[in-house]
Amino acid sequence: MFDVAIIGAGPAGASAALFTAKARKKTLLIDNDKGMTRRALLLNYYGVKEIDGPDMVDIGLKQAESFGAELINDTAVDLKKAGDTIQIETENGQYEAKHVILATGATVNFAEKIGVQTKEGTEPRIKKVVDVDAAGKTNIDGVWAAGTCAGMSVHAIITAGDGAKVAINVISELNGERYVDHDILEK
Ligand SMILES: Cc1cc2nc3c(=O)[nH]c(=O)nc-3n(C[C@H](O)[C@H](O)[C@H](O)COP(=O)(O)OP(=O)(O)OC[C@H]3O[C@@H](n4cnc5c(N)ncnc54)[C@H](O)[C@@H]3O)c2cc1C
Repeated sequence: MFDVAIIGAGPAGASAALFTAKARKKTLLIDNDKGMTRRALLLNYYGVKEIDGPDMVDIGLKQAESFGAELINDTAVDLKKAGDTIQIETENGQYEAKHVILATGATVNFAEKIGVQTKEGTEPRIKKVVDVDAAGKTNIDGVWAAGTCAGMSVHAIITAGDGAKVAINVISELNGERYVDHDILEK
């Protein structure tokens, strides 16, 4: 049983995974590598002078994996609740988690398939998004959404930041108190 399963490993999903895995939550990342970020050249990511989209995606995944996140190259096709457990079905397997974060980018097909409420998008070319509250929660208990699919402005720094925000909210709920991830520079 995973503490957190994240569907989609672009900036939103991999950033969420980095935080949950670093917080020692057993983390699963399910991704089919059809995201938009591999097509970008990023010159507007704070603190990074220039990075190609493929490098950002690959480095982000490695960072999440280095903290213990388990990456599976697969497509999520269904999700069902069984009491407090969430069962996720992929094309090639089945997994269980306490919490799920949807980070599926420009598509909400999976969200709609599983009964997550969507609404009209506001960003250019993003027709529909998941209807989330300020914390990132959807209408299904334990199912959260982050990044482009949650209606964020379609910029990597914003979607990555939103993934981190939602992850911190999930970790805080699992811990029963607000969570902060700060490392201190030794001088
Ligand atoms: C051509 C182009 C140029 C861009 N240039 C810039 C730029 O200069 N600066 C900038 O800030 N932003 C830029 N962006 C936008 C930036 O890429 C996005 O804002 C951001 O990366 C989106 O992150 P995301 O994680 O929400 O979605 P994505 O990166 O699209 O990731 C979503 C992931 O979910 C996976 N997925 C979806 N459904 C499933 C499923 N059912 N099962 C498993 N996996 C699934 C996808 O395969 C994908 O890997 C650009 C985008 C494009 C297309």
